[in-house]
Amino acid sequence: MLVSITAMATDTVPDATNLGYLLHKHPDRVRSVDVGFGRAHVFYPESSAEQCTATLLVEVDPISLSRTRTGSKGAQTLEPYVNDRPYVASSMLSVALGRLYGSALAGNCENRPELVDQPLDLEVSLPVVPVRGGEEVLRSLFEPLGYAVACDVVALDEEFPSWGDSPYLSVTLSSKQTLQRCLEHLYVLLPVMDDRKHYWIGEEEIEKLLRRGGEWLPEHPKADFITKRYLRFRSLTREALAQLADGLDDTDAADETNDASEQAIERPLSLNDERMHAVVGAVVAAGGGRVVDLGCGEGNLVRRLLAEGSVSEVLGVDVSIGALDKAEKRLHLDEMSERRREQVHLIQGALTYTDDRLRGFDVATVIEVIEHVDEERLDILSRVLFGDAAPGTVIVTTPNVEYNVHFPKLSVGTLRHRDHRFEWTRAEFTTWAEQVCSDYGYTVAFGPIGPDDAATGPPTQMAVFSKGTGGAG
Ligand code: SAH
Repeated sequence: MLVSITAMATDTVPDATNLGYLLHKHPDRVRSVDVGFGRAHVFYPESSAEQCTATLLVEVDPISLSRTRTGSKGAQTLEPYVNDRPYVASSMLSVALGRLYGSALAGNCENRPELVDQPLDLEVSLPVVPVRGGEEVLRSLFEPLGYAVACDVVALDEEFPSWGDSPYLSVTLSSKQTLQRCLEHLYVLLPVMDDRKHYWIGEEEIEKLLRRGGEWLPEHPKADFITKRYLRFRSLTREALAQLADGLDDTDAADETNDASEQAIERPLSLNDERMHAVVGAVVAAGGGRVVDLGCGEGNLVRRLLAEGSVSEVLGVDVSIGALDKAEKRLHLDEMSERRREQVHLIQGALTYTDDRLRGFDVATVIEVIEHVDEERLDILSRVLFGDAAPGTVIVTTPNVEYNVHFPKLSVGTLRHRDHRFEWTRAEFTTWAEQVCSDYGYTVAFGPIGPDDAATGPPTQMAVFSKGTGGAG
């Protein structure tokens, strides 16, 4: 995917190569950086005083993308590997704009500060853009911002006109704007046009996108529409990244719930505290040592484990970058002494992929995580955890669905969190745990967390697995 920005010489700005100063990129050089989902390059196909074009090309690595996206559909088809994402302008292009043109977006130009506020004659060319709603939406987004919009529908295959049109537009936007404002427009509106879920962007990126609209979005006649599409992204992104979401339907996103709502349901019990207390107790009882907290979220347990003398090291692992960022802040990693700092690490990883970094631990904790994984993928999780990482002790907690009748805010048949793929009865949890023991040579003991109601059992169920025979059985 690519975007080219051309500046034309004008009376007030006679030298178009000023674009290079503003973008902090020298017209004679190619600059390339890694952007997580591939590599982005900036180069200048032409650079003269009359006309100067900077092109940002993003090479998406579909394999790395497919690793960050999941979905039962995707798991069985080639869709995660073969899709339009590498070729079309989307949120990924926004992210690349942010990385490579960050200074220009922020309005910084140390060498030539006077250029920042000068409107330039700009032409933006986007060869392949998916626009949900087509030309009409495209115009409604850019024309109020002062752009002349030209677009063509891209043919499915030029060699075979009878195949008809593709769903993509080739777009040219012309306007007299400051470069900063133009970049902001693209940065915010590219994902709005595309309107697709983007599993590959951290939550913080999405927040940034919206902030870039601060100066002009409130005045935009389509501000509501733009914001609405955004918020949908944000929730989808959070959910998808946070829980390896399984291809939620767009319509589902509107009524999303989040962790706060799960906590609200469970709050009267302060169940979370009880859970943490019970788990720390189980870790200490197992002898502590090197502990890996899988699906560590915002680092609640990591923090408590670090306070235990018998715990020598904690590795927090989560699939969500957003959660890991929060964990890093909440743990104040940057303020820790060097010695302490060596005891704690946070890494991104998924429990559904074997990973050398997870081997060699004394204890693994998997707290309120398994219910976020599709049931049909649990076998993989078991293999990764018990077969490959194979710590001496594994502590797993998960909701006990039988207890849900005691939650006044939860309607019958509803799970505690919208992203829970299942909530098990005690019998179901036991069946799973016993299968794991026989497959991987562990023994298991169960413990209740929270009030252990005679009829329904406790709100949270915990299993403590010990490797080898002769354990609690
Ligand atoms: N253990 C934490 C967080 C529980 S919420 C606590 O008790 O406070 C579930 C967490 O599991 C989320 O942070 C989510 O990002 C993470 N998660 C879900 N599926 C995962 C997977 N397959 N691999 C790693 N982490 C996962």
